[in-house]
Amino acid sequence: MAALDGLPPLRDVIQRHGLDARKALGQNFLLDLNLTQKVARTAGSLEDVTVFEVGPGPGGLTRAILALGAKKVIAVERDARCLPALAEIEAHYPGRLEVMEGDALKTDFEALADGRPVKIIANLPYNVGTQLLVNWLLPKQWPPFWQSLTLMFQKEVGQRIVAENDDDHYGRLGVICGWRTNASMAFDISPQAFTPPPKVTSTVVHLTPKEHPIPCSVANLEKVTHAAFGQRRKMLRQSLKSLGGETLLAKAEIDSSRRAETLSVEEFVRLANCL
Ligand code: SAM
Repeated sequence: MAALDGLPPLRDVIQRHGLDARKALGQNFLLDLNLTQKVARTAGSLEDVTVFEVGPGPGGLTRAILALGAKKVIAVERDARCLPALAEIEAHYPGRLEVMEGDALKTDFEALADGRPVKIIANLPYNVGTQLLVNWLLPKQWPPFWQSLTLMFQKEVGQRIVAENDDDHYGRLGVICGWRTNASMAFDISPQAFTPPPKVTSTVVHLTPKEHPIPCSVANLEKVTHAAFGQRRKMLRQSLKSLGGETLLAKAEIDSSRRAETLSVEEFVRLANCL
């Protein structure tokens, strides 16, 4: 596809820099610049924020973010092979792109934000995506350092992020996302859009922070969701036995014969606050 930003087509970039995709790094590259722009547009206006991107790879999404007007993009990439390709984008957009070689799981994004308004946009490597999301949901302070997260996941993970009670995908991830954020699925992307194609459909999820989530200890919320969903088919009086069972449930005014997947986020928070 002809690139509107004047940079070479991504297929040429990949070939010239020998960026054959590595499975261990979750490398499925999105080469369709219409789709990368659609992902970037989901984040809304980018002009007055610093954008953090994880895993720019050959730079398809990075180019879309810059073409949409982001004044500053900081991208963290683990694969050193991608750096020369990204340097070409840096040169095309002087002063607007900073590439850091490193592991996003070890990156202190909060410190990197340094008080600036931030939006995070990424086509995440499948093997670290959920952990990164959880890290961004549990920063030291709330509201967090980011204004929004626009993230691509395997569709099944996206469904777990947005799931509410009485949905088969509802679990610990849905509770933590529902507690602190408004999360929605924006659109799906079929495997054929990627090089190489992954086995499953992907989806773009958009999350914005709730300004005032019900106050609750993260550790306690994790304890109750871990115990309740660890035995999701059992009644809560059984699955929460180690945390007080009937007594805890009575204190939170929750029927002990219910099962984990029927409890709303607010009820989980109430349980956590009664621990
Ligand atoms: N953004 C590109 C795109 O949309 O075509 C590439 C997305 S690909 C799914 C994931 C990218 O994350 C790869 O470039 C991979 O090298 C990088 N990556 C994998 N693990 C990483 C980690 N722990 N920290 C930073 N980048 C990582």
